[in-house]
Amino acid sequence: MPTIAILPGDGIGPEVTDQAVRVIEKLNELFDAQFTTELQPVGGAAYEMHGHPLPESTLSLAKSADAILLGAVGGPKWEAIDRQLRPEKALLGLRSELDLFSNLRPAILFPELADASTLKPEVVSGLDIMIVRELTGGIYFGGPRAIEGEAGNRKGYNTMVYTEPEIERIAHSAFRMAMQRDKRLCSVDKANVLEVSELWREVVIEVGKSYPEVELSHMYIDNACMQLVRAPKQFDVIVTTNMFGDILSDAASMLTGSIGMLPSASLDSNGKGMYEPVHGSAPDIAGQGKANPLATILSVAMMMRSTFANEQCAAAIEAAVKQTLADGIRTGDIAASGEKIVSTVEMGSAVVERLIG
Ligand code: NAD
Repeated sequence: MPTIAILPGDGIGPEVTDQAVRVIEKLNELFDAQFTTELQPVGGAAYEMHGHPLPESTLSLAKSADAILLGAVGGPKWEAIDRQLRPEKALLGLRSELDLFSNLRPAILFPELADASTLKPEVVSGLDIMIVRELTGGIYFGGPRAIEGEAGNRKGYNTMVYTEPEIERIAHSAFRMAMQRDKRLCSVDKANVLEVSELWREVVIEVGKSYPEVELSHMYIDNACMQLVRAPKQFDVIVTTNMFGDILSDAASMLTGSIGMLPSASLDSNGKGMYEPVHGSAPDIAGQGKANPLATILSVAMMMRSTFANEQCAAAIEAAVKQTLADGIRTGDIAASGEKIVSTVEMGSAVVERLIG
């Protein structure tokens, strides 16, 4: 029986993962899917219970489970503690311990929510792009790195480094994703200036020979930023390095208007993954039943597709979310002024009711 580790975390994390668990239970009923769920604390909640944001019991469940669903970590309560023990350290620990090098961040704008974007509805309505970001290499991890020298004359430096195997594995991940979608992949780099990007481009082209059905294109990061706000619907899948992906995926997420709608996945080379909403623990609304659980519920859809290769369950969840929105059901973050607002639990119930086998 496939096991899903549930790591609710802090703030609104437990509120939104509760609703996702209800969805998983309904999938079991409808599709005889037999997913089991097991809970462990992570982040600030784990620090309170065990003195560490990623205790051994949580890490070992994360390692043994087939997939992980994480809520969110962090909050003002833990901002003053030692950096090594802060809730956010748990995320980095999970990514590196599980070698989750491939970060998938879809930016989807349901037509019903087109008015929520800061861009014109015709530019973003129906937007459906996937950014594949390399997550464990590049300039964020490369060495040498330091700030050194005499005061007044110091220098700071980092190193952007990628090896061929690192580029190959993220490229494969992106090409596989493109094969599941519209078969178009745009690799974003800065090959006109950086040697590391030159190698990136060369290796991506080489890997592409194994995926002849996928149309591969290349774009410089500066142009990609511009194109993303000018005409975002031209993209299907984008693959890029850690830092460029960090920037591009945040920009893309804002195209869709609400952070409460955006799921994400971080995968290893076997398709095992950690799935989580893009948003944080939202301390300003925690405990009030105001959080939108759809990002977390849509993260379960990604899990069904990417880890369990269960298109039936993934499509059922996405259809239920779509129907919920079409029926005008809105949490506060996605409601237009004057629209009726439902609670986190009511939104969860609305999706569960619309799940059909
Ligand atoms: P945030 O995403 O928690 O909140 C930003 C704004 O969006 C807030 O106004 C919040 O109310 C709103 N919001 C977020 N999720 C929502 C949802 N599901 N429904 C409705 N509204 C929602 O970002 P922040 O305020 O910068 O960070 C708060 C804490 O979360 C910090 O401690 C930060 O370190 C942490 N954080 C954690 C993660 C993670 O666990 N992956 C990611 C980002 C931030």
